[in-house]
Amino acid sequence: MAQPDCLFCKMSRGEIPVQPVLQNEKVFAIRDINPRAPVHVLVIPRQHIDNARELEWSHAELLAALFTTARDVARLEGVFESGYRLAFNVGDAAGMTIHHLHLHLVGGRQLGPEG
Ligand SMILES: [Zn+2]
Repeated sequence: MAQPDCLFCKMSRGEIPVQPVLQNEKVFAIRDINPRAPVHVLVIPRQHIDNARELEWSHAELLAALFTTARDVARLEGVFESGYRLAFNVGDAAGMTIHHLHLHLVGGRQLGPEG
């Protein structure tokens, strides 16, 4: 279910304009507004899921769309060969600030174990 006050749901519905790096019917990808590396893109399912704790087997196709879109973003952003990190933050202690599942794609520099 889409959440009326959710920032990413509003972006998905076009209520907040975004410039997607890539988008399709299931997923859209945008640049993080506070990038932690030269490449920092959020890959976001259009379906509202609070976080990775909520994932079920029924989300399998959506997760495949998320990860294949992330791979395509990596190609577009020029980090496909050099390497990049894919990460989900889950909950407040992980620094999750927008409670709508999103996959961080981070790269463009040598990453340490914690970022
Ligand atoms: Zn949402």
